[in-house]
Amino acid sequence: MDPLYLSTAECPCCQTTFKVTKVRPSFKNPYKSDTDFCGYYKNEVNPDYYVIRVCPQCGYAFSENAIKRMTDEQKQRYYNEIGKHWTEQFFHGERTIDQALTTYKRALIIAQLMKEEPRLIAGFLHHIAWLYRYKGQAEEEKRFLQFALEQYIVVFEQETNSEKNARLLYIIGELNKRVGNFQEAVKWFSRVVNDQSIVDAGMIRASREQWKETAELAAEQRERAKKSV
Ligand SMILES: [Zn+2]
Repeated sequence: MDPLYLSTAECPCCQTTFKVTKVRPSFKNPYKSDTDFCGYYKNEVNPDYYVIRVCPQCGYAFSENAIKRMTDEQKQRYYNEIGKHWTEQFFHGERTIDQALTTYKRALIIAQLMKEEPRLIAGFLHHIAWLYRYKGQAEEEKRFLQFALEQYIVVFEQETNSEKNARLLYIIGELNKRVGNFQEAVKWFSRVVNDQSIVDAGMIRASREQWKETAELAAEQRERAKKSV
């Protein structure tokens, strides 16, 4: 069975209905994941490549969670800042990793311009980091992990009850670890482990493991800093 199939989507900006390629649900489970949930898939079909829809008519790029109804002011802003440079292009069919990257970067600048929710923007930045990880471009990956981390912190500061959101706390710890802020990472992991009101057993377990490992890395980092003085 072909993991990909064609469907349609409507552009929230110009209302054009256009073709999109989707991945069948049975092909969406990764056979393994990194500690920050970056997935690896069999059959060379990565569902992440197909998350962003790009309207061939106006170039608006968006995910399923984007604003559904845009105001006239938002549409105008998109055309003035980004849309006016667009020439018709089609993004349905099988995507390469570089095409996936192009679609995510376009969706990112549009989401920023539209002042979408920080959670959506953080997700785009994190996914772009993963694409660089698949490509083996560690420096670019780290740059986008840093941007994603900053956005997740905005999410943490803005959302109500975010201090009880174990997955968000864990991700902030995890990205701090990945960009080398070990002491900061330890603080976030320990929040998940020590908060008695958090009941997410999977996240508590993962945080406990990462806490231990990161505390050791933090100690080594402090030792190195002492020696270099
Ligand atoms: Zn459109």
